[in-house]
Amino acid sequence: MIFNFHYRGMYKMNILGRKISTNTKRLAEEIVDMSSKKINYYELTTKGKYGYVEHSSNCYNVYLSKQLDGEDFETNYLHEMRHIYQKEKGYPNVNSKSVFNEDEQNKVNDIRDRLDSHILDFDVNNWLLNNGYSIDCFLQKSLETILNSEFPETSYYNHAFIQIQLYSIYPYLTELDKIKLKSHIEGTEYIEVFNKLIKVNALELISSNSCAIAMCEIIDVLGLWNISKIKYRNNKIRTSNEYKTKKNELIK
Ligand SMILES: [Zn+2]
Repeated sequence: MIFNFHYRGMYKMNILGRKISTNTKRLAEEIVDMSSKKINYYELTTKGKYGYVEHSSNCYNVYLSKQLDGEDFETNYLHEMRHIYQKEKGYPNVNSKSVFNEDEQNKVNDIRDRLDSHILDFDVNNWLLNNGYSIDCFLQKSLETILNSEFPETSYYNHAFIQIQLYSIYPYLTELDKIKLKSHIEGTEYIEVFNKLIKVNALELISSNSCAIAMCEIIDVLGLWNISKIKYRNNKIRTSNEYKTKKNELIK
């Protein structure tokens, strides 16, 4: 059921019945104005999930959880709106390669989704922080989940899943929380790759407009070229060698 909608010339001060501040409205309006498609809003009722954007041929469907209140609701709303901005601006995406087994393909697609959204989230978070929004509530929840969980036995897929989950929050943590996170994985098989991953410094790469390079570097470190490729404007990068050859074209 459609609860709300948003398109040119019709700016709402509330989203799904939640009042939003003038600043949030202003930032959202900029995205509504540049969007080539109508934007619809729906309530997301899946527990533990905050939001996502569904892309259809003639609209964007934004799903938002109402578990969040006040500024956290607004931050989450803008988070999803920034994903629309990225889509409109032609940001790169992680795609998956085809494998022959259906069960494997589902796992490969899950890794693709996670890689794609976590890497694009670095840009989302940069934007939110630069506009004075706090992402602490989201970071603390993710950190808590990680610190309270035992890592499952490693399979190829679990490994990539966990690495990207750890890496997605690491740059934003306080020094103390970084130590907590690292000591949680110290002594496990995750630490070695994780130490290489944090050297990629995706946050800095993305700030300097090189989201595609950040994606390629992360896939390099995780050794995922056999199941992933990067799509960026007219470029498709399928291997580490292709990446190295095309690196200069990837800098906007
Ligand atoms: Zn996101």
